[in-house]
Amino acid sequence: MENLDPDVPNRSDEHLSPPTDCSPAGRRYAITTFGCQMNKADSERMAGILEAMGYQHEEDELAADLVIYNTCSIRDNAEQKVYSYLGRQAQRKRRNPHLTLVVAGCVAQQEGESLLRRVPELDLVMGPQHANRLDSLLEQVERGQQVVATADHHILEDLTKPRRGSTVTAWVNVIYGCNERCTYCVVPATRGGEQSRTPQAIAREIGDLARQGYKEITLLGQNIDAYGRDLPGITPSGRRCHTLTDLLHFIHPVEGIERIRFATSHPRYFTQRLITACAELPKVCEHFHIPFQSGDDEVLRQMARGYTVSRYRRIIQSIRQVMPEAAISADAIVGFPGETEEQFQNTLQLVEDIGFDQLNTAAYSPRPHTPAATRPDQLPETVKLDRLRRLNGLAERCARQRNQRYAHKVVEVLVEGANPKNPQQLMGRTRTNRLVFLPATAGHGPGDLVQVHIDVVRPFSLSGSLAPSA
Ligand code: SF4
Repeated sequence: MENLDPDVPNRSDEHLSPPTDCSPAGRRYAITTFGCQMNKADSERMAGILEAMGYQHEEDELAADLVIYNTCSIRDNAEQKVYSYLGRQAQRKRRNPHLTLVVAGCVAQQEGESLLRRVPELDLVMGPQHANRLDSLLEQVERGQQVVATADHHILEDLTKPRRGSTVTAWVNVIYGCNERCTYCVVPATRGGEQSRTPQAIAREIGDLARQGYKEITLLGQNIDAYGRDLPGITPSGRRCHTLTDLLHFIHPVEGIERIRFATSHPRYFTQRLITACAELPKVCEHFHIPFQSGDDEVLRQMARGYTVSRYRRIIQSIRQVMPEAAISADAIVGFPGETEEQFQNTLQLVEDIGFDQLNTAAYSPRPHTPAATRPDQLPETVKLDRLRRLNGLAERCARQRNQRYAHKVVEVLVEGANPKNPQQLMGRTRTNRLVFLPATAGHGPGDLVQVHIDVVRPFSLSGSLAPSA
C-alpha cells in the first residue's frame, strides 16, 4: 500500500490528528480475527468490551462504524492479507472520517507506529497485551488522539464479559506471553513475557461460565506448561498452585463443567506428573496438542526448542501407556533454514511412527526480528512447498488410519450446535476432539452429552447416529 504520509512522527498513546467522533451510542463494530486461539479469545474479550460500551455487533466489516483487525504475524501471508483489507478500509475512511479503524494483535505489536506511516488513516494500533484496555484506548481516540499502544504492559484482570462464539465451549486464558526464544517465532516479541493469571481469577471465570451453561473449557496459553512459574502460588486453602498440574486439580471441582482441555503444550516442560493428573481427573479430556516442529535433533537445536526427538517420543509413549485411546495432535514446520532432505526424512519418520490424529503443518516463513530470518541458508520456496506437500499427504493418511478406531464404536459427544452447512444435522466433539455429525432429529441440543454410534469415518470428521441406549 502506498505510504501517504511519510512524516508521521513518533507517537505513543498521544494525539496528533483531528478528533474522530466515535462515541459508541448506536454505532456498530466488526472484528476480523486472524491466527491462533489466543487471538480468537482476545477478540471475544474485545467484543465484550465494545458491547459493554454500547456498540452493536455488525457482520459486514464494510458496513461497520468501528473496524478491528486482530492480526497474526506468525506467517507472512496472514500479515499481507491484513494490509490488503486495510487498503479497502482506508478508502472508506477517506470518504467517512467518522469510521474508526483499529489494528490489534501481533502485527500491531510488531509494526507499531510504522503501521501509522503505512496506513495513516488508522486511529488505533494496539498490541495483544492491551486487549483488555480497549475501552480506555478508544476514549483517547474519541478525544482526537491517534494512539499507538505497544509498550510492555501488565495485563489487567478482565472484568468484562467476552462475547463468546459458542454457548457450550469457551476459551479461558491462563497465561499470556512466552519466555521461550524459538528462533523462528515472533510471539515473544509480539506478546511479551509470561504473565499468569491467578488460580482464583481463573476459577472464578470458569464458575461464571458453568453458571451460564457452558460445559467445556479450554485453558489457553502460548506455552501453557509455563503456567504459574511467575506466581507466588498460594491458594486460599493454603495449597501451592505453581504449575498447570496444580491448576487442573484446583479447577476440576467446578460444578457444571464436564470437560477440560488445555493448549498449547511444550515438550520441553511436559511432565509425567501432568500425564498422571490427566489420567486421574475424569473431566480432563484425552486429547493432547504437543507441537514437535521437527523430527530431527539438529534442526530442533537450531530452533532452540530445548528437547530431543527421543524425549518427544517418550512423552507420547507415557501418555499412551495410561490413556491408550488418547488423541495426539501437533504442529510441524518444514523447510527451516538449512534443513536437508535427510533431516526432513526424520520428520516424516516421526510422523509415521507416532501416527498423529491431526497435524498442523507449515512451510517455514522468515519473520522479522527472529534469528532464523537472518540466516543465509534459506531454502527455495519450491523445496519448502514440495516438503509440505509430502508431509501433508502423510499426515492425512495417518489421520485417516487413526480415525478407523472409531468405526462402529459408541463415543460420547458434546453437542455444540447445528451443522452450519446442513441444518438437518447437529455437530459436536468427542473427548478426543474429533468432530462428529449426527441427525438433528435426535431431539438433543447444544450442551447435551450424547452417546453416538459411529457409522462413517472420514480423515477429519465422523458421522453417526444416537446409540440405542441413550
Ligand atoms: S514456545 Fe516457542 S514457538 Fe511457542 S510461542 Fe514461545 S517462542 Fe513461539
